[in-house]
Amino acid sequence: MSDQAGDQLRFQDPATRYPSISPPEQDQPEPGLDQKLQPHADHGEDSYRGTGRLEGRKALVTGADSGIGAAVALAFAREGADVALSYLPEEQPDADRIASLIEQAGRKAVKLPGDVRDAEHCRNLVAQAVEALGGLDIVVNNAGKQVFCEKLEDLPDEQFDATFKTNVYAMFWITKAALLHLPAGSSIINTTSIEAYQPSPILLDYATTKAAINAFTKGLAQQLAPRGIRVNGVAPGPIWTPLQVSGGQPKDALPEFGASTPLGRAGQPTELAPAYVFLASPESSYVLGETLNVNGGMPSP
Ligand code: NAD
Ligand code: MG
Repeated sequence: MSDQAGDQLRFQDPATRYPSISPPEQDQPEPGLDQKLQPHADHGEDSYRGTGRLEGRKALVTGADSGIGAAVALAFAREGADVALSYLPEEQPDADRIASLIEQAGRKAVKLPGDVRDAEHCRNLVAQAVEALGGLDIVVNNAGKQVFCEKLEDLPDEQFDATFKTNVYAMFWITKAALLHLPAGSSIINTTSIEAYQPSPILLDYATTKAAINAFTKGLAQQLAPRGIRVNGVAPGPIWTPLQVSGGQPKDALPEFGASTPLGRAGQPTELAPAYVFLASPESSYVLGETLNVNGGMPSP
């Protein structure tokens, strides 16, 4: 996959830059492992070329072991940042792989396993990142839970709670703790979703959290602007990651995953990375409270 992609700055047709995948039916227990994903996802391992846009920066990325977070963590490192990675202990093999790619880029990788549904863990996460990196100036709230459920009557209270804890509360706890440390010039980037605007009938809890993330992002951006801290969001469309095979989609929907986008294919995690790099870097100094849609062309506000 990566061979075909070339480096990310090469001129090419976006429709065919990555293959139109038709993933076989598969499932994994939550949170899912990138290592077991068929076909493999592209995090930019062989294609992302940095241009020094985050030289000397210090980033905390949640959900950094796989999928979008892994692509972002790797791109940040290749742009010159040291990175603290948050993930669940079950995801250690995926985290080890991304951490070693960050180290191969000559940057520091700090591994911080733990459950972000726990407020105390979120506060520790920030404290440990600050300690290990010698400060913090980029926070990416990207960890997410997505488990489909056909009928509201069948949606367990526990799942509703866990989805909100993972997607919304963790963002609140981590951001609140980080504000004690973030200097002017810092960037906070939250991962929202096309689901915030086009809620799928089988993802009610998930879609609701994503709309909440957008509102939090746009409100907080105004609050923090005078302090020189920019807050923005990225709203992905259908991206091929372990989230989709660990309850995120019905199994029989996987072969068609992403096919209905105008571009006609699912996105790869690496295609998200430049959006996060842009929002983290000083070149986006006049961009605040924005949600950058990276979704293969689905109409979005
Ligand atoms: P992913 O499974 O690779 O990443 C999600 C990560 O969340 C996991 O790797 C895990 O480390 C982390 N996580 C989940 N529960 C956690 C917990 N309790 N404690 C600590 N970490 C936890 O999948 P992804 O698709 O890359 O997801 C990243 C973000 O992108 C999520 O917020 C997701 O909602 C969002 N998103 C994904 C898509 C898509 O199509 N894949 C579309 C829109 C938005
Ligand atoms: Mg993972």
